[in-house]
Amino acid sequence: MDVDIACVGFGPAMAGFLTTLSRGLVKPDGTPALASPAEPGMPLRVVCYERADDIGFGVSGIVTRGRGLRATFPDLDPKQIPMAARVVEEKVVYLLDPIGASRRSWTLRAADACIRAFKGLLPFEKEAVELPWTPAFLRKEGGLLLSMGQFMQWVGAQVQGVGAVQIWPGTPVSQALIQEDKVTGVRLLDQGVDKQGRPGSGFMPGMDIHAALTVVGDGPVGPIGRQLDEHFGRPQGHHTRDWAVGMKFVVDLPQDTPLKAGTVMHTLGFPEPEIFGFLYVHPDRIASLGIFVPSWFDSPVRTSYRYLQHWMLHPYLWAYLQGSKLRSWGAKTLGESGRRGEPCLAGDGYARIGEGSGTTNVLSGSGVDEAWTSGTQLAESVLELLQSAKPFTKGNLEQTYVKRRRASWMEAEARVAEKSRDGFQKGVVRGLLGMALAGLTKGRLALESQAAPPYKRLPTLEEYYLGRIPASDIRQLRKECAIKGVSVHAALMPRSGWPAIAYDGKLLMSHQDALLLGGKVAGPPGYADHVLFLYPHLCVECGTRICAEVCSGQAITPGENGVPAFDREKCVHCGACYWNCSQPHPDDPERRNIAFQAGAGGLHSAEN
Ligand SMILES: Cc1cc2nc3c(=O)[nH]c(=O)nc-3n(C[C@H](O)[C@H](O)[C@H](O)COP(=O)(O)OP(=O)(O)OC[C@H]3O[C@@H](n4cnc5c(N)ncnc54)[C@H](O)[C@@H]3O)c2cc1C
Ligand code: SF4
Ligand code: SF4
Repeated sequence: MDVDIACVGFGPAMAGFLTTLSRGLVKPDGTPALASPAEPGMPLRVVCYERADDIGFGVSGIVTRGRGLRATFPDLDPKQIPMAARVVEEKVVYLLDPIGASRRSWTLRAADACIRAFKGLLPFEKEAVELPWTPAFLRKEGGLLLSMGQFMQWVGAQVQGVGAVQIWPGTPVSQALIQEDKVTGVRLLDQGVDKQGRPGSGFMPGMDIHAALTVVGDGPVGPIGRQLDEHFGRPQGHHTRDWAVGMKFVVDLPQDTPLKAGTVMHTLGFPEPEIFGFLYVHPDRIASLGIFVPSWFDSPVRTSYRYLQHWMLHPYLWAYLQGSKLRSWGAKTLGESGRRGEPCLAGDGYARIGEGSGTTNVLSGSGVDEAWTSGTQLAESVLELLQSAKPFTKGNLEQTYVKRRRASWMEAEARVAEKSRDGFQKGVVRGLLGMALAGLTKGRLALESQAAPPYKRLPTLEEYYLGRIPASDIRQLRKECAIKGVSVHAALMPRSGWPAIAYDGKLLMSHQDALLLGGKVAGPPGYADHVLFLYPHLCVECGTRICAEVCSGQAITPGENGVPAFDREKCVHCGACYWNCSQPHPDDPERRNIAFQAGAGGLHSAEN
């Protein structure tokens, strides 16, 4: 099939692109404003393929200054969008460890001891200290609080309403078509195959879609972005070694909650010092809350689900959450390399937008507005090139899109943020100081250091628990868990001081129950497995098996003979296994022993 513009992924970046583009494609009387260069006389043909089964896929409650969103929708009224609110209150809260199980450095222990000693003089309440102010670089004053799923449905309906572009959900793109260093379109995923990708009855090879321009906005774990990186390389010194796994709940707060719609809370310090948390209050007593487990957390026990439960149970948060009820649930990884994660933004026949193009600002904790803005910048550039009948060459895209991006507020803020989180490579206290330094000096000063890939950072379970749990016990527990087909953290965490979770069936429940209650997870038949363990012998030798520990959907289990097993029907496409795998790929140390390919299905919950 031939189109003019083929788009991969419908996240905020693509929503920004298609909103701005479609406005330029239609005249006020509804007739096409631009003809297709490929088929003169016909309207421009723009098609967007989204992997998830709905255009409202999204896994974040969002707080955003909304600068880019407001530039597109100057009259935006939050009342138009379900679950949206204006930000009315922001708090940063330091959580002390009330149970003594978290791994705290001596500096942090000393700080905690001081806080406890002088608690009468501090805003100390329920084992927590509310910071007296929110640093300016984090503040979202006057901004918006959104549900990503609801926002995407709202904006998707508007884009489709214009009638100038088509969006196809449930249609994963398997690869970019590349001919002599020019991207000529995309190939859709084969259907009617078995788990290994072998054709079965009803086999339908993925269709080739030829396009003059391919726009790639497939997010932080997008396989098409990665294919382009492997083919075209990354700019010198750029890498994607900083990331975080975000896991969240959407809950009904209790009837008598004192929390007002528009309240934004950020936490640090607990359950582990490296884990940041958030709680955003939507209208009607609904809240989005969750944690981020970052790449620099040097623990092979990175289970987001269990840590999220301990976080909710912190006395400061539990005072608000007791009596709450789970509505939906989700997990997704977040690219945190920022500007340093930037790939080649444009080439012959293609352009990259959104988080996969390094837009996320790690200092302000903002991703949606930047992703959106990169999309609008590309749309303006595409319209300019179409109007002047110029082809989508690398040179023309650099002269328009890349130039706009470099000249924008987004680039200026990305430069300020570029080194702001480097300090975390050497510990939390240093990390926080580095952020403050970069934030207060507008990026002129930072505590610089090199990000190391997980395989260089992660200790084995035996090393991590040295002095706390004997290696022989760990080996035994590992064997028992492998026989039961379960991950080992559930057995190890209680041994290192983490109390059992008392399930209430409403907010506190087993991981499996949360998967069942908190949204629909689907793995439609007829598609190949999208998570592959590339070199099984590396898995057999692996000291962490962290892929099974971190799996957000319990889709990866220890498996037989030391090689993990993958169940496509439970996978929520969060990408945690891909980022966390602790063994480097033998041919490329920037890759790991897991392939994360294009796949169908995943999590569906419009509230996320
Ligand atoms: C828990 C959590 C909380 C967050 N909180 C905030 C916040 O408070 N404020 C904020 O500004 N940002 C926040 N973010 C970050 C924000 O969600 C991202 O920066 C933003 O979604 C990036 O947009 P994007 O369009 O670039 O990518 P994505 O949102 O990742 O969208 C990419 C799309 O591409 C699709 N796709 C991938 N591969 C394919 C394929 N092969 N074929 C077809 N489609 C494909 C995906 O299904 C997805 O829909 C948060 C993120 C998480 C995970
Ligand atoms: S996929 Fe990676 S983390 Fe999982 S067992 Fe294999 S090498 Fe270890
Ligand atoms: S297997 Fe799926 S659910 Fe599990 S970590 Fe990987 S992407 Fe996430």
